[in-house]
Amino acid sequence: MVVDELPLSRAAVDRAAELRGRADLVAGALADERTRVLLLRDGLTAVDDEGVALLLLSPAQLRDVRAIDPAVAATGDDDGWVFLGRDDEGTHYLALHGPAPAEGQTPPTGQDGGVRFASLRVLGALLSARDAGLATTAVALAAWHANHRHCPRCGSPTRVTQAGWSRTCVQDGSEHYPRTDPAVIMAVVDDDDRLLLGHAVAWPAGRYSTLAGFVESGESLEHAVRREVLEETRVAVGEVEYRGSQPWPFPASLMLGFRARALSVEVTADGEEMGDARWFTRAELAEAVRDGSVVPPGRSSIARALIEEWFGGALPTDDWTA
Ligand SMILES: [Zn+2]
Repeated sequence: MVVDELPLSRAAVDRAAELRGRADLVAGALADERTRVLLLRDGLTAVDDEGVALLLLSPAQLRDVRAIDPAVAATGDDDGWVFLGRDDEGTHYLALHGPAPAEGQTPPTGQDGGVRFASLRVLGALLSARDAGLATTAVALAAWHANHRHCPRCGSPTRVTQAGWSRTCVQDGSEHYPRTDPAVIMAVVDDDDRLLLGHAVAWPAGRYSTLAGFVESGESLEHAVRREVLEETRVAVGEVEYRGSQPWPFPASLMLGFRARALSVEVTADGEEMGDARWFTRAELAEAVRDGSVVPPGRSSIARALIEEWFGGALPTDDWTA
């Protein structure tokens, strides 16, 4: 199974959900120097100087950073805390998130004041299991908080409750919980064991990946797999086999991975979403990756895992982050 190795599906810290209702949870954790705090800004996570591990601050280090970094000092104190969990040694983990980037805006990268921030999309495959789990949860919740500041029932402001795991309407008291949107992603294989990969119109030149799409309301996962493949390529799909899942919090997807068996081989890319789609043998894909005409999806993605599961090993790339 691919699922155990998926970078963002890993976790090592107990979420300790039973503690979230305690009103003094965040303040109590901050009074304990064993506690570690992950800073987030614009959807990015704080990283160490090498940029390959999370920067997890003790309460004292957090005070120091806030003293010298005006941007971190301005990070929303009342609104921005999330309790991520507690490990076997009794260390509590908190996230402190600032604003997420506006729709369509590319977040800044690199050094910012005293702290360096980076994207989990790139970091995911480099992090330890503990750090990957902490960062994935923190990034997902930061995005949810940024986009759910008002009550969907009455439009009044909501306030953070349950240590960052819910928001409550100040007007009608209704409670609202973090959302996750299911999306299917599939390695479609034909009777000759070739793999179907597509190039979306919106992607950089050469990028080819597995087909994917959101599950629609009232639809099963299996139906979504068959519908998406048919819509994007006109290829009919029969047997569908679940392979594993990975959260993809950009901003709120849960990717559900499948192997799917094609019933037809003629490919017609829809031209709107999918600019091109074609079948690859293993030798053809290896050659295309080597000569650079195909750029596979990044190492943190479930798409890469599904492709490499079919391929039978690592693709011949020399990239270490992408
Ligand atoms: Zn309301």
